[in-house]
Amino acid sequence: MNAESKVTSQHLKRAAYLYIRQSTLRQVLENTESTQRQYALRRRAVALGWPEERIVIIDHDQGQSGASASEREGFQRLVADVGLGKAGIVMGLEVSRLARNCADWHRLLEICALTHSLILDEDGLYDPGHYNDRLLLGLKGTMSEAELHILKARLVGGVLNKAQRAELKMPLPVGLVYDEDERVCLDPDQQVQQSLRVFFATFERTGSAWATVQAFRREALKFPKRGQAGTGEIAWQELTHSIALDTLHNPRYAGAFCFGRRRTWRDAEGKSHSQELPRDQWRFLKQNAHAGYLSWDQFLANQQRLLQNHQAHGGGERKAGPPREGPALLQGLVLCGQCGRSMTVCYHHRQGRLTPDYICEKDCVQKSEPVCQRIPGAGIDEEVGRLLVGSVTPLALEVALNVQSEIQTRLAEADRLRQQQVERAQYEADRARVRYMRVDPNHRLVADTLEAQWNEKLRALTEVKEECEKQQRLDSTQLSEEQKAKILALASEFPKLWQDAKTAGRDRKRMARLLLEDVTLRREQQEINVQVRFKGGATRELRLPFPKAAWALRKTKPEIIGEIDRLLADHTEGEIAQILNEQGWRSSGGAAFTFSIVNHLRWTYKIKTRYQRLRERGLLTAREVAQIIGGVASSVKYWRHLGVLSGVRYSEKEEYLYPSPTPDLIQEIRRRRGLRGKKSDENKHSSPSSPLGAV
Ligand SMILES: [Zn+2]
Repeated sequence: MNAESKVTSQHLKRAAYLYIRQSTLRQVLENTESTQRQYALRRRAVALGWPEERIVIIDHDQGQSGASASEREGFQRLVADVGLGKAGIVMGLEVSRLARNCADWHRLLEICALTHSLILDEDGLYDPGHYNDRLLLGLKGTMSEAELHILKARLVGGVLNKAQRAELKMPLPVGLVYDEDERVCLDPDQQVQQSLRVFFATFERTGSAWATVQAFRREALKFPKRGQAGTGEIAWQELTHSIALDTLHNPRYAGAFCFGRRRTWRDAEGKSHSQELPRDQWRFLKQNAHAGYLSWDQFLANQQRLLQNHQAHGGGERKAGPPREGPALLQGLVLCGQCGRSMTVCYHHRQGRLTPDYICEKDCVQKSEPVCQRIPGAGIDEEVGRLLVGSVTPLALEVALNVQSEIQTRLAEADRLRQQQVERAQYEADRARVRYMRVDPNHRLVADTLEAQWNEKLRALTEVKEECEKQQRLDSTQLSEEQKAKILALASEFPKLWQDAKTAGRDRKRMARLLLEDVTLRREQQEINVQVRFKGGATRELRLPFPKAAWALRKTKPEIIGEIDRLLADHTEGEIAQILNEQGWRSSGGAAFTFSIVNHLRWTYKIKTRYQRLRERGLLTAREVAQIIGGVASSVKYWRHLGVLSGVRYSEKEEYLYPSPTPDLIQEIRRRRGLRGKKSDENKHSSPSSPLGAV
């Protein structure tokens, strides 16, 4: 069968689809030849009888890898249009590469067969409806996938081999470079080296990435970065938290070669995912493979430190919230020891005073889950206050001042770095000036651009200079002896101020914030574990008993409890409240006794109820009596109202228990019931049915 005979008028009525694809951006740039070949297919279609205007070109997917169809919009559109029967023919260079994944390919074949669409590539014209053509196309698809697989295996194999020998050349983080022999060494640029050393030293000192960033900001230090890919030029930027974390987590700074820190995979839809792996699952790790800025042990210690910080912050660094109204001392500083989130404060009135509770309720608000933790705050505030007063002592401040002067000496180091920044800016400005001088003044366009660049560099130089001078002035403010004396005097003032009743709660909160970083609370059975972290990084642990509820705090006198226990034999709880008041007792809160106070005390001290006592004495319920005398429970009440049966009240409501009725009593009730029955027969229509009616 020749090619032309496969094309029918039915096919020609529909459109011809030319699918053009280059799998990587590089191919798009370099491989224009194959694009030419793809467009040549178009001419074939015209030759087969399709008019120019009915040739649809799909080229959305240029620069997309063919491994899966899900991200290739163009291929999706092709499949859709073929499925709708819009395509008479599908054209592509080596059509099997339309889809580099067998599943996608077979699906396309299937649909082409169903809609009677033809397939055309450089080798020939196929009708997927014909068994032989289909077999051939299927084979082509399989071969294409196999080719991709082998290609990949070869590439990956080569990479892994090199990685295993720690010889794989990979992009290096700033501060490390390859020398002429392709060995990794420290960046020869002293300023870059120095910045990284200061960075790691600062982390060592502060113990937190966030604090390191803040220190860089305070000192107006910049952090180096490599210029855009390929240029390798050093640029300077503000240190950010994410850069700091990346730098701290990168094992290459510890001189270790590593490969396979991340795992990437494709899901069912062909979407690519990537996940960081724990250290023990990295593919290759070789310690002491090259020069670095810190030792492997230091690196591990840093990782541990970061992990702890992470846990303390429940996933992210967190800033303390501002002090607000309300007496809770630690508001905005408290973290949940269970989940790491910030805890909020809720107040309630207790004896006319606002008392705080610290609650972790984020999930409860967002996902309507139960509250994670709720911890009464009054005791904690008190203890932390005591801890603060104990910490601000003359001795502690003396130590702090010594540390301060130690830090002062390190400022020289920072100053040197800033000087280098100025030198560099100066150098760049000079270079821009030389470039401008050298250009032919008649060449206006170039001269203008160079002049603008020179101006730009000069502006940068002025900025850096000013910044440097400003910092120098700030750094040079050494503490004078007089200031030191003032600070030491504070130590004795602080406890006085703290305990002074006239000091506002808000001011106390401000003071707490000056000293504390955060406080982590965790409830452990009957204890509260309080982790206090001071601004400088020092931590203290407190263990406080979990406070009892309010009624238990104001402990009731044992005599009263004994009295309640005794009176319950003959009185209800309401009556006991009255008796206690008459006897002149007052509740622990100072108020008169009420039914609910007595009830609560009885419940709290697990005193037997009046009902239990009466039952133990053999008293019967109305239902039980009804069974003996015959009738229902309400009839028992009726006889009690008449005074025939005697009941004993056991609660504030009309609830009674009854002594077992004697035979005489039962007799009496039966007699009365007979009389009553006759009476009710006489005026049947006028009297409503009495409880006896049921007898
Ligand atoms: Zn929580």
